[in-house]
Amino acid sequence: MTDVRRAVPRTDAVLADPRLAAAVIRLGRATVKAAVTEAQERARLGAVPPEAVPDLAVALLPAASTTLRPVLNCTGVVLHTNLGRAPLSPAAVDAMARASGYVDVEYDVTTGARAGRGRGALDALAAAVPDAEQVLVVNNGAAALVLATTALAAGREVLVSRGEMVEIGDGFRLPDLIASTGARLREVGTTNRTRLQDYADAAGPDTGCVLKVHPSNFRVEGFTAAVGVDELATLGVPVVADVGSGLLAPDPLLPDEPDVRTALRDGAAVVTCSGDKLLGGPQAGLVVGRADALAVLRRHPLYRAFRCDKTTLAALEATLRGPEPPVWQAIRATGLRERAVALADAVGGKVVASAGAVGGGGAPGHALDGWAVALPASFAEVLRHGDPCVVARVADGLCLLDLRCVPPAQDVRLRNAVLACTS
Ligand SMILES: *Cc1c(COP(=O)(O)O)cnc(C)c1O
Repeated sequence: MTDVRRAVPRTDAVLADPRLAAAVIRLGRATVKAAVTEAQERARLGAVPPEAVPDLAVALLPAASTTLRPVLNCTGVVLHTNLGRAPLSPAAVDAMARASGYVDVEYDVTTGARAGRGRGALDALAAAVPDAEQVLVVNNGAAALVLATTALAAGREVLVSRGEMVEIGDGFRLPDLIASTGARLREVGTTNRTRLQDYADAAGPDTGCVLKVHPSNFRVEGFTAAVGVDELATLGVPVVADVGSGLLAPDPLLPDEPDVRTALRDGAAVVTCSGDKLLGGPQAGLVVGRADALAVLRRHPLYRAFRCDKTTLAALEATLRGPEPPVWQAIRATGLRERAVALADAVGGKVVASAGAVGGGGAPGHALDGWAVALPASFAEVLRHGDPCVVARVADGLCLLDLRCVPPAQDVRLRNAVLACTS
């Protein structure tokens, strides 16, 4: 035993291995040293021979300096919040990489003077939403909403329908969010029915704005009534419309999904939405609308607190100007059945109809008809632990592999990952 312990190579000697020396540059010394320590420990316990320590340390190195793991999304849910919502287009990824060093995000290289931050992204947004007089970008949809209600109604009231008092996920509730800003929420109407008169009765000198929230993650059916932005705009109070998903204009594929253009044409003073839902870009909050209202938001101190990173601005601009983002490729995907048949032929399993979803607070109740390969439920866990990590949908006691959100170029990797589980 003591001999084995003495034969275990010293840390400096192992770190001199060229593969590990290269890894120090890529991953940092602490990470590589941790792998070496672990390998030495296993040798001391007799699990591997001492001469195997360098190889084992190399094998123990993490793939990257981030612990975030790419996954193949086989759930059929396009905007899966737990899986990071929108995957970025190659153009957006490239833009992020370009913006990752020193960059002229707030600087004019022609004059050498300071320039408007993120003006490229803001110009792209203004071009994409020509009905808006002015545009802003913040960190996320929740920040956009907080900024709008705070700037327009701090110390005063925000009128909102009881049918729109929503929880946006992970226990965060809209009413709490707005109350945290110092505006008072005044609920009008009832859960299932709210009329224009309800708003009119509540509106007064203390009203800062009316808030219209798209109940994006649920649907109220039956005896219902809600007031549209067009009617709310007649109240003579600024209307803030939170459309949530970031659909910029109506889309026939998602007929019930509210969009930014319609809300503006209907008379909203401010429209807010997310950048990483149906827009298909990075996490961001888009704020568009009337110049007078946005000037108030722009001057509010919270605007600085919600400021976006340069890489976010770059990815947002590329999403707005660039090719169709993966989110829409997934929503419009065709040939899913053929791909599912090919996968089932290779790995076994049965091809079944599969209802995917937009998810992430978009088009609630709207099924995206597709196809999946059904395997025994026990596969789901094994696939999650594989490389690549595959996240399937478990339903009806089956492990379903829905190909909607898998780029076709990844089909071979998916097939090999499943085969690795079966063998
Ligand atoms: C998603 C959503 C939000 C929150 O947006 P984030 O970008 O997640 O902060 C707010 N309101 C509505 C209606 C939403 O759908």
